[in-house]
Amino acid sequence: VGREVKRAKTKEEVHINPWTQCEYSSKYYEILEKRKELPVYEAYDTLIELVQENQIIILQGETGSGKTTQVPQFLLDSGIAGYKNVACTQPRRVAAMSVAKRVAEEMDVILGEEVGYCIRFDDCTSMKTRLKYMTDGMLLREAMADPLLSRYSIICLDEAHERILNTDILLGLIKEVLPKRPDLRLVVMSATMDAEKFQTYFEGSPLLDVPGRMFPVEVYYTEQPEEDYFVAAIRTVIQIHSYEDKGDILLFLTGEEEIENACNAIKETVEKLEKVGDLSVIPLYSSLPPTMQQRIFEDPPPKNSKGIEGRKCIVSTNIAETSLTIDGIVYVVDPGFHKEKVYNPRLRIESLLVSPISKASAKQRSGRAGRTRPGKCFRIYTEETYKKELEENTIPEILRSNLGQVVLTLKKLGINDLVHFEFMDPPAPETLMRALEELNYLGALDDEGELTKIGNEMSQLPLDPNLAKMLIDSVGRRCSGEICSIVSLLSVPNVFMRPKDCVKKADIAKSKFAHPDGDHFTLLSAFESYKFNKEDPNWCWENFINFRSMKSASNIRAQLVSQMNGFGYSIELSSKRPKEYIDKIKMSIISAFFMQVAHQEKGGHYSIVKDNQIVLLHPSTTLENKPEWVLYHEFVLTSKNFIRTITEINPKWLLQIAPEYYDLDKFPNNDIKKKLSYLQTLLTNP
Ligand code: ADP
Ligand code: MG
Repeated sequence: VGREVKRAKTKEEVHINPWTQCEYSSKYYEILEKRKELPVYEAYDTLIELVQENQIIILQGETGSGKTTQVPQFLLDSGIAGYKNVACTQPRRVAAMSVAKRVAEEMDVILGEEVGYCIRFDDCTSMKTRLKYMTDGMLLREAMADPLLSRYSIICLDEAHERILNTDILLGLIKEVLPKRPDLRLVVMSATMDAEKFQTYFEGSPLLDVPGRMFPVEVYYTEQPEEDYFVAAIRTVIQIHSYEDKGDILLFLTGEEEIENACNAIKETVEKLEKVGDLSVIPLYSSLPPTMQQRIFEDPPPKNSKGIEGRKCIVSTNIAETSLTIDGIVYVVDPGFHKEKVYNPRLRIESLLVSPISKASAKQRSGRAGRTRPGKCFRIYTEETYKKELEENTIPEILRSNLGQVVLTLKKLGINDLVHFEFMDPPAPETLMRALEELNYLGALDDEGELTKIGNEMSQLPLDPNLAKMLIDSVGRRCSGEICSIVSLLSVPNVFMRPKDCVKKADIAKSKFAHPDGDHFTLLSAFESYKFNKEDPNWCWENFINFRSMKSASNIRAQLVSQMNGFGYSIELSSKRPKEYIDKIKMSIISAFFMQVAHQEKGGHYSIVKDNQIVLLHPSTTLENKPEWVLYHEFVLTSKNFIRTITEINPKWLLQIAPEYYDLDKFPNNDIKKKLSYLQTLLTNP
């Protein structure tokens, strides 16, 4: 192989790791043998040549062919990266971390030194770092401070086929940077994809297609549509474990809670079975701590006392579709759903909804079964559904998103002419306009569409525009310590746990933190108790508090404080909180979320201001009496429309804090308008 010829100058040198000047460990050689079997290994010379001769190349290869782990290393080893660094982006935090760890092992270096990763709120890199795995969002953040991405000589945009929002922005951005940086190289990497689309977008760029080594996968469908895909999926796993030959199972589900429930159900059922091997059931989702995520690479359990081989069953979100490859999977169970972000521009609400996957995803999922030998894929839907109901491809995220953050990011990147920015799939002009309008209401953009001082700071905070606004607003009101905690708590998954088998106990535990003014404050009191109890995991456990969420909120808070200090703001926390102080906190929340207010109507239900959409307070709220005016953080679309994380507010503040948005002349004629108009007159003629 060309690679070794290039490296092996003298015999001694081969054993010395050029990065550390130490002798290679035995593990290095062990892994090297496996690496040599990966399909991309054979493409080494072609790859290097193409990257040398072209500014942009497109690399396509089956999942598991070695793109993510090998290609950045090749670029570094070959010397074509020069003295600058190599970046490899990943849509998912988990993948960035896990791959960096693997590559550090492969290169026989310590993670965080020559090879590191950088994800939001967790930077594991150092001065020594030459190869950096990072989320697309982090590279965008770097571009804000360094618009020409001058520290990199090669950027690999990985998993480009997923077309997440930030990948699309990076594509457009790098396209603008390339002419200004003739030494910069871009490698667009992806599993099977619409290579033509990328080639059209990057006119004249060559395509390197790495053929995978796939074994055939037999696909089975259900005869009839299943009423409950969850139950059917678990039944299928049990059947595979009971009747099929050796080989691991991969079940795709939609999210943390569903996955944990499935793991428990599978374990319980298998325990009751006789004449089967051991089954280790392993969850995989993004909020799982890294050590737990590593478990997917463990070997399956050995033969048990009855002499039957064990197997592992991984229950995963989309992460295992293309981002992470798990060897040994022979059976895939695919219910055909994932959680997908959908945006309702009328309600200005982005929500994660369980929705059907695309045909492209279904193919990727089944492909996971044929990595090491012929496999089987059980689709929990009918062939008819597959053919007639699934979309060909997943719709790019940019077409399903609130573009507030995108616009803010682009403005900060110095791209003022959004209309002419080369999006691969341009979003609807109305969605862009709406985002501009919202940012104007938030004070991030002035009437000319220029970034304001606040807008400039907001764009640098790793938060949604609203949360960023809330944080910056709180400085002037001198309640930034509390708001900083609340913002952090709103950025992590559910803090209060409510396991199905002890709902009552959990609710009693939560009631201890309940605050009469609303859920934002309830979150705050839980966080402060957590701090008071020295961040003790046992205390969390006893109080049905999600320790991981608290820990991560605490971590996020520390980083926000340091970033705010960097802007020259000090973060203050008050020990006493009289009503006036509580009101200040509420006003800061309103300064960012004045567009998310509901009013109680005569029948007792709530109606969203400016929209007339009927909603209910989510049963999880700790608000006991139903206040007339509430601000909500989230809109939950289920069988009923709920608003969640709710706090009572005084409507007077809406008129004072957001007069442009609450310009009553533009309001629909209804009860809400009447009430606000009355308040308005009281305010102007006290
Ligand atoms: P691609 O990006 O083309 O999908 P990867 O580079 O992610 O492929 O993976 C190549 C191979 O590296 C996988 O098939 C797997 O065998 C191995 N691999 C990757 N990560 C790990 C890990 N953390 N532990 C063990 N093996 C791994
Ligand atoms: Mg990959």
